[in-house]
Amino acid sequence: SFSTQNIPQLPPDPLFGLKSRYTEDSRSNKVDLGIGAYRDNSGNPWILPSVKLAENLLQNSKDYNHEYLPISGFKSFTDAAARVILGDDSKAIVQDRLVSIQSLSGTGALHIAGKFLKDFYVSESSAEPPLIYVSQPTWANHIQLFEYIGLKIATYPYWDAKTKSLDLDGFLDAIKKAPQGSVFLLHATAHNPTGLDPTPDQWLKILKAVEQGGHLALFDSAYQGFSSGSLEKDAWAVREAVDKQYRFPIVVCQSFAKNAGMYGERVGAVHVVLPDHDAALNKAVLSQLSKIVRSELSNPPAYGAKIVSLILNTPELKKQWEEDLVTMSSRISKMRKTLTAELENLGTPGTWKHISEQQGMFSFTGLSPAQVERLEKKHGVYLVGSGRASIAGLNEGNVKHVAQCIDEVVR
Ligand code: PLP
Repeated sequence: SFSTQNIPQLPPDPLFGLKSRYTEDSRSNKVDLGIGAYRDNSGNPWILPSVKLAENLLQNSKDYNHEYLPISGFKSFTDAAARVILGDDSKAIVQDRLVSIQSLSGTGALHIAGKFLKDFYVSESSAEPPLIYVSQPTWANHIQLFEYIGLKIATYPYWDAKTKSLDLDGFLDAIKKAPQGSVFLLHATAHNPTGLDPTPDQWLKILKAVEQGGHLALFDSAYQGFSSGSLEKDAWAVREAVDKQYRFPIVVCQSFAKNAGMYGERVGAVHVVLPDHDAALNKAVLSQLSKIVRSELSNPPAYGAKIVSLILNTPELKKQWEEDLVTMSSRISKMRKTLTAELENLGTPGTWKHISEQQGMFSFTGLSPAQVERLEKKHGVYLVGSGRASIAGLNEGNVKHVAQCIDEVVR
């Protein structure tokens, strides 16, 4: 029988729990800096103009329908998605070393990748599934998701709280000491939650160490275009790993939730990059990925994939999308600078420059759990306990107020 003895009630998910506290808060000047979703300068969700155009095209096309997609997804979407992240002339594409499959956004991509690696990524030195190394800290769902699949998690140092910068030595040391054949989960750009990305020089050292350790790189690309506004720049690390002389296997998990503003439509893909061309292996990998999809969701959702496919495959829409990325990333970047300037103007104790230097949707503010709690209770400004703020929640109407509230809780 069912009982609360064998079904313990779990606490709400920290992020979605925060969202519901925010929704229930009746204060008119409340501010949501919790969830990682873009908001426009009035604080509202934004449907990208490129998405609106694509929706129009799709709904007026003669073969608009709601049929099932194939198990592996909408091929014109997965092919174009691979070109976006890897580059049009990626060696992996040209040399036919790539296996792609559609997923339920980035989370689904990580899930498929994790399950696949657990079952099939074997190291020469151990029969056990690989350890998966995640950054300290990382997106909280990484840990829950991989543990759920049955993978063992290890962490590598990333954020140095004292200097508010990358602990590169700690990171490289962890790669060196990891058992050969481990999986290193790397945030392709706009690291969540810190907003801190390695520089190109640092990336070269990280990739070299991954290769020397005989490891696999699992890239999580959830924010391409969000850091710099440029799809190319934000794919630099992934392309460097795939296209240079490295000889390690690479898996890329790709989400269009943020960069196409298609959060609820669950548009994503997994790309497995094999070090050598091997047609039989390509087919075997695709067959196993397909089995995971068939058993878990049968076939992926069609609507969002069709929209994103139209955007990626229609030059005018692609151009509009690239403008939309600049709109979003530059508004966020402006808010970073404004918040830093407001805090500096107020003379708020501490240093705040890191907020304007960080990238992507989030900032690791350095605020303590007690300060975060006071921000929520006293001021109705909501951010997660780690001090991570979603900068997209700031706008010209609330940024000064938020700075004043931060000032009050810091003093
Ligand atoms: N990876 C990271 C680092 C994220 O921050 C997120 C979303 O917040 C995801 C993956 C997955 O998002 P989604 O499943 O909505 O694509």
